[in-house]
Amino acid sequence: MGRPSDGVHASRRLYRFEGPYPTRYVGRPHIHVHVTARGFVPLFVTYLPRAGEKRGRFDLVLVPLASRHLEVRDTCSVGDAKTPSDGGPPPPIPARAYFNPHSPERKNLRGPNITGVALTLRGHVYDEQCHPVARALLDFFQADSRGQYDLQEVRLHGHQYTDASGRYVLRTIVPNRYRGRTPHIHVKVQAIRGPILETQLFFPGRLRAYGLNMAALNARDRYFEPATTVHLGAPRNNNYPASFDFVIATR
Ligand code: FE
Repeated sequence: MGRPSDGVHASRRLYRFEGPYPTRYVGRPHIHVHVTARGFVPLFVTYLPRAGEKRGRFDLVLVPLASRHLEVRDTCSVGDAKTPSDGGPPPPIPARAYFNPHSPERKNLRGPNITGVALTLRGHVYDEQCHPVARALLDFFQADSRGQYDLQEVRLHGHQYTDASGRYVLRTIVPNRYRGRTPHIHVKVQAIRGPILETQLFFPGRLRAYGLNMAALNARDRYFEPATTVHLGAPRNNNYPASFDFVIATR
């Protein structure tokens, strides 16, 4: 695919992109689309062309920053790619209904001994047919504001279950970098009796925390995955709102 500036013609409402059909490297051929506009939540989506598609139409809807709803869409779109794993070996499907997360059940990882830039992450878990997955298990684990993990795996580690609409919310802080890694949050997601998705969530370059140059750190991290970068809102009361929807296999 050519550089976007080679083939994108944008106006207020219309855009056109011309480029060769993407080649396959992981999963189905796809085109990452990143849209930014002043006053709107940046949008990062993946377009999956049909086999041999010559002309496609793909409407992009931006959400105003002032909107209380951060999600770039209310529902998953059929054809959305599954959330990519972080590349490690797929964990075996446990014999029990869920894997053992080895963490406290909680939605709030902040506490009296946790300092840092506050982050509130919300989103949904969907199956591949875009149905919300209720009672999906999510386990989050991350470094603290100094880039250190709790070796006991208790601090800044917690699991929770989605509600009946497939929603989750995590109250935490922005993790710092460590040993050349860009800031990230480890997450495992599993529908009941389904395979485990193990992946990492990243942050867009405009996030400001701990004096980091997030864009440069992302660019240098070979594990960085644009498709698992959270959607970030404007900070309010020193708290960054963010959202990320997972699309997982359920069997
Ligand atoms: Fe890590």
